Amino acid sequence: MTSTEPVSFSRGRPRLAVDLAAIASNWRRLCAEAPGVEMAGVVKADGYGLGAAKVAAALEAAGCRTFFVATLDEGLALRRAIPDRPIFVLNGLATGAEAEYSNAGLTPVLSTPSDVERCARLARGHATRLRAAIQLDTGMTRLGLGEAELARASDDLALLDPVLVMSHLASADEPDDPANRAQRERFETMTARWGGVRRSLANSPGVFLGPAWRFDLCRPGIALYGGHPNGQGANPMRAVVTLDAPVLQVHEPHDAVAVGYGGTYAAGPGRRIATVGIGYADGLIRAAGNTAYAMIGETRVPFAGRVSMDLLGLDISALPPGAVRTGTPVRIIGGPDGLDDLARAAGTIAYEVLTRLGPRFERVYRNEPAEESRT
Ligand SMILES: *Cc1c(COP(=O)(O)O)cnc(C)c1O
Repeated sequence: MTSTEPVSFSRGRPRLAVDLAAIASNWRRLCAEAPGVEMAGVVKADGYGLGAAKVAAALEAAGCRTFFVATLDEGLALRRAIPDRPIFVLNGLATGAEAEYSNAGLTPVLSTPSDVERCARLARGHATRLRAAIQLDTGMTRLGLGEAELARASDDLALLDPVLVMSHLASADEPDDPANRAQRERFETMTARWGGVRRSLANSPGVFLGPAWRFDLCRPGIALYGGHPNGQGANPMRAVVTLDAPVLQVHEPHDAVAVGYGGTYAAGPGRRIATVGIGYADGLIRAAGNTAYAMIGETRVPFAGRVSMDLLGLDISALPPGAVRTGTPVRIIGGPDGLDDLARAAGTIAYEVLTRLGPRFERVYRNEPAEESRT
């Protein structure tokens, strides 16, 4: 996590840079991990906060052929950027909006008896069937048909021929958790009725559980965005996000100081503090106050005091006097471990850090794929 290139800030705003080549490289890395298996791209929540249209275009240029979003609206928005690849809508078939899926060529992932029933009714009314996927609950108790619902929905299910049957792993980031094997075995049993239909179980950490969990198609999200897939060993993924913010003021006190709301950081005499123009209104998790670190050049500087709405204190005493000035760039997220380190310090996960990143940043996309590379 270093900041070597100088950063100039447009209108004093923090800058969020997204490296699209790193996203493509992470996708290829996952493909190499899972030979012979289709690697889709999960771009829900606006591409984990990084811009689904840009992310998906970069993935498509790299060779990705299947995309997943959470909601119908996300699917409709993505359809404009990705005109002719399958887009699956994970949160099911929204009641009353059934026609919008077929009009936009979106594939709902049916998870409830009602989803299945409404989809079957459409199939009865039309010569052509609505393209759909089916999600099974194999032990996470989130979305998906359980064994009993599957049995009850038999007649409706007979009217659908799903393009994909899938389930989701609850504990893939804990490779030794016996729940992984249990879910996989239940998935195999529950999908037996759909011989020949493609199957999908693995998210990012699931890809690394081994070949038995990969089935026909994997659905990575966080690993594409540079998050460590399972926290084991060095992060195999390339960093995607760089977040820099400007120093607004430097305090060079001779006496002891208290920093920020509540004075929760008590710095001894001679400690120096920088105030940085980024806060929780930008999506910087407030719980990172007093626990996370940022980088100024090659130096780690700890967060000092609580994170304010628009401001952050840093203890810059490790840097020589005069090294930090108004306008000095501070790297809040960067490098292979920066995202996960910040998340851990804030008591959360990389997913939440990314999806909270707000609209106040200047957003920069690096290494956009050339137009001709989109096939
Ligand atoms: C979010 C999600 C994914 C992607 O998970 P990651 O852990 O980000 O790789 C895959 N499948 C489903 C059903 C999801 O909800």
